[in-house]
Amino acid sequence: MAEKVVIVGSGPAGWTAAIYAARANLEPLVFEGAVTPENQQQGTLPLGQLNLTTEVENFPGWPHVDGDVLAAFAKSALPADRYVNLQHLQEAHTGKRAAFGPEQMEFMRQQAANFGTRIITDDIKEVDFTEHPFTLTPLTGEPIKALAVIIATGARANYIGLESEHRFKNKGVSACAVCDGALPLFRNQPLVVVGGGDSAMEEASYLTKFASKVYVVHRRDEFRASKIMQQRVLENPKVEVKWNSVVEEVLGDDVVSGVRIKSTADASTEELSAAGMFLAIGHTPNTDFLGGQLELTDKRYIKWTQPFRTWTSVEGVFSAGDVSDDYYRQAVTAAASGCMSALDAERWLTLKGFAE
Ligand code: NAP
Repeated sequence: MAEKVVIVGSGPAGWTAAIYAARANLEPLVFEGAVTPENQQQGTLPLGQLNLTTEVENFPGWPHVDGDVLAAFAKSALPADRYVNLQHLQEAHTGKRAAFGPEQMEFMRQQAANFGTRIITDDIKEVDFTEHPFTLTPLTGEPIKALAVIIATGARANYIGLESEHRFKNKGVSACAVCDGALPLFRNQPLVVVGGGDSAMEEASYLTKFASKVYVVHRRDEFRASKIMQQRVLENPKVEVKWNSVVEEVLGDDVVSGVRIKSTADASTEELSAAGMFLAIGHTPNTDFLGGQLELTDKRYIKWTQPFRTWTSVEGVFSAGDVSDDYYRQAVTAAASGCMSALDAERWLTLKGFAE
């Protein structure tokens, strides 16, 4: 028997799709991803990119609140075996705060489960969309048949690949200035942004609101970013550009205290004092497992083939969240498109006479 809807991915898009699909009696099955060393290394563990951040201050509906009250809320909302995943974060914090990324993700997961979503902690390693019902093959276990599929596997931020960079993740190294820039750790401190595209310009401009100074470290002698965004950065007195430079080491003990950059033009190096390093060197969508069966953009994101719809190039396969979005990339936009994908799947199943 084929599943009505299988959702692949467990970030805000995947869980929102599951909540809507479950409430529409589609009995969704979610593959939330596998806990493997490879996924750990590349940042593609279950619960997505938000699970890798600290406080989420820009998700509507989550103002600052006493941390103990949030911990009590989590204890009441989650079963003990999930609450335990959050305890170490909650215990390390005192005072008021917004919800942590991992808290929000556990809440979304639980909300989906409460409406009857079934969850399998595994990756889908292969798909066959050439025949309907579709076939999805997990890493372990038998292939699954599905009438409709929602791909919500997200994207992963690119990192330089330094061991020191990995060690300081969430301790001063971030790939999202909009998510983390306003944290107390970075206030009135010098910060480093790496990259030369629009994201780097946007992040550098944004960080000047909090930082005492922002270094933009770029590997070439000109930016890739649009002229207007470059101009905004270059005219900002708080910004200093380090042209023809790459970061070769992140420095610090418990948290980041600076970076060592080296020239791409000669053999010189320089140490910059900084409380944080923000990577803006692009993202990689998690689309390899699709084996080329869905049409992708030139950056390998899944193409939406109809305006304002989550339809892909294969009828009955929908996509939501960052796997189809190299532009907004926010938790709230991912959640919104997850909702859209479930509504699109429901309407398509009804249209085809598959929904009972
Ligand atoms: P991007 O345009 O691909 O730029 C990535 C930047 O990172 C490039 O400058 C690249 O250098 C550099 N880079 C890549 N790998 C690197 C490495 N290993 N070490 C050091 N530097 C490295 O990515 P993006 O800035 O995230 O933008 C993605 C898309 O979103 C673009 O289409 C952009 O226009 C759009 N966007 C728009 C806005 C806006 O309009 N408000 C804001 C953000 C993003 P090179 O230049 O040398 O290749």
